[in-house]
Amino acid sequence: MPNPILLSTPHMGEQELQFVKEAFDTNWIAPVGPHIEAFEQEFCRVTGANHAAAVSSGTAAIHLALILMGVQAGDEVFCSTLTFAASANPIKYLGAKPVFIDSDRTSWNMNPDLLKTALEKRASIGKLPKAVLLVHLYGQSADIDPIKEICDRYEVAIIEDAAEALGATYKGKTPGTSGKIGIYSFNGNKIITTSGGGMLVSDDPEIVAQAKLLATQARDPAPHYQHSQIGYNYRLSNVLAGIGRGQLRVLSARVAARRRNFEIYHQALGNLPGIEFMPEADYGRATRWLTCLTVNPDLFGVDREQLRLALNDVQIESRPVWKPLHMQPVFAECESIGGAVSEDLFARGLCLPSGSNLTDEDLERVIGGIKAVCKGKKNF
Ligand SMILES: *Cc1c(COP(=O)(O)O)cnc(C)c1O
Repeated sequence: MPNPILLSTPHMGEQELQFVKEAFDTNWIAPVGPHIEAFEQEFCRVTGANHAAAVSSGTAAIHLALILMGVQAGDEVFCSTLTFAASANPIKYLGAKPVFIDSDRTSWNMNPDLLKTALEKRASIGKLPKAVLLVHLYGQSADIDPIKEICDRYEVAIIEDAAEALGATYKGKTPGTSGKIGIYSFNGNKIITTSGGGMLVSDDPEIVAQAKLLATQARDPAPHYQHSQIGYNYRLSNVLAGIGRGQLRVLSARVAARRRNFEIYHQALGNLPGIEFMPEADYGRATRWLTCLTVNPDLFGVDREQLRLALNDVQIESRPVWKPLHMQPVFAECESIGGAVSEDLFARGLCLPSGSNLTDEDLERVIGGIKAVCKGKKNF
């Protein structure tokens, strides 16, 4: 059996171990420590964010962001439907109600026109959502400007879930730095990883100070333990922040490697009948965190699932595009606006192995595996 080729695995650089060793050598193993602040500052430098709080996961960062935007039980939060469940789960932690918004075809992200119509309608009946949770999917920014314009008009806060889009750009800016709050993830499969971790950023220093307070059990400034609000244990540990500092130093190399994977796949497979790659919107640069494509079974010869299984048979891991949240059993009772685009992308979309540590031989194997099942090609 050939070695398995996985979707996206951790890829350490040169310096992570050195930073971790430093934490050991100075006994900063207790969760707080100097790597955390250094990681936050370096993260701001790399992304252009103004203030940052390092936390234990991207999900924790979303949870804190919603609390800080004042989301409470019964409130509504508009949320991209084509995303991982972690985008919307924290809405439910608070007893609030997600309303899911469909994607557009140019970016696979939230459709600004749909959002505009929905917000206009809601404004007219005096029922605006508390926030919009805008996801930047698979390494590509959503079309932020028109979304920001309409949200600003109605004074609805934007929380950007940029868990998958660190290293991307939108008109030169990093996704996650345009809304009221942005969040990132350093889970094991993301473009850089701390094994587990996340970051919350904002232009508002008060929001980030509050996030740090809530993330450390909301302890009031007093010599004894005093608490005036409910807190969480959500801070990133100093050891993991050390890994993050090392990973930040190789972020641009990781982006380049993932974009190169895409180029190689695109060159080899772009002309196969029935194969279309996720488009790169003209307003920015995608990282191609995952290379995604859609399969038209009539032209390609087999459908997405048959292709996935054929790759699986030769030890190649690929995955369907996210199942839209409005189709998830756990969100079945939630309202959704549109949905046909994300449903189609889910039905026909596949994510290919995309790690920055894939070899040329790995990429050749994936390409060979896909060509082998393309029955349509003999017509061309
Ligand atoms: C990974 C991911 C998250 C959650 O991040 P964790 O660090 O795993 O908690 C949230 N949203 C999206 C879009 C993600 O891909």
